[in-house]
Amino acid sequence: LEAFYTDHFVLPLPPGHRFPMSKYRMLRDKISAALTNVTLNEPPEASDGQLALAHTPSYIDRLVEGKLSSLEQRALGFPWSPAMVVRSRRSTGATIAACRAALASRSSAVNLAGGTHHAFADRAEGFCCFNDVAVAARLMQAERRAKRILILDLDVHQGNGTANILANDDSVFTASIHGANNYPFRKELSHLDIGLPDGTDDLGYEAALNQLLAQIDSRFNPDFMIYLAGADIYIKDRLGKLAVSIDGISRRDQLVFDWAKQRALPVAIAMGGGYCPQIDDTVQIHFNTVALFAKYSLDLS
Ligand SMILES: [Zn+2]
Repeated sequence: LEAFYTDHFVLPLPPGHRFPMSKYRMLRDKISAALTNVTLNEPPEASDGQLALAHTPSYIDRLVEGKLSSLEQRALGFPWSPAMVVRSRRSTGATIAACRAALASRSSAVNLAGGTHHAFADRAEGFCCFNDVAVAARLMQAERRAKRILILDLDVHQGNGTANILANDDSVFTASIHGANNYPFRKELSHLDIGLPDGTDDLGYEAALNQLLAQIDSRFNPDFMIYLAGADIYIKDRLGKLAVSIDGISRRDQLVFDWAKQRALPVAIAMGGGYCPQIDDTVQIHFNTVALFAKYSLDLS
């Protein structure tokens, strides 16, 4: 399994900032120590031209040059710095690299960060500068590696930016299961949305996922999938509001894996959110996702 990491491009945050930046380094270390069948690679930066597949040139310019308004700055939730721009470009580059690797090997590949699904075409929001999945989906089409792409977003928060950017694009299908009462409080329309009540447990989650996958089957025939495997559906997550156990999350990943394998779908995976008080829990959940896809190669060739 090819994995792409960006944790060494550090995004400087003030002390006590609630974004768990350290989880990315911990995840890479854990994989490096325990999963010998995972190759760790540094991705290139996403270029302005690549970013423009999903973002307006004026927004890219404002973000790259540090010209965001104070309102935009607040919506993003990170202080601007040149290092933040580098990190955001690399993280989008990692999703691009994972997509290319998955499609080249007709198997799976993973970005050990990414899933910045709250970024819109012309604005940043919710810790997300660039919408890595929208950029990568469009680029895979432009490079003629894939035609019909499914974005399966199982982060607990709706991928509002992704849904908005791709709303009128019939060649990319956006599907989301998220907390109905969670951020973003004004939801966008994905091609398929399931909003879950607070406190949804393992069984409720599995039922929703089976329902979602069945509906995708009846509406879209993808040749490639990008999977946002958010860790924030976990019961102990600070921002999740759901009640899915670690075993329940492994079951989620297994269902997605089996569904992809049965349909011979290459899969690129992005990690998405995870905000446990005990950061080790978040890292363990992300690790389990990587380990599952590494252990059972999709091997579709
Ligand atoms: Zn999230």
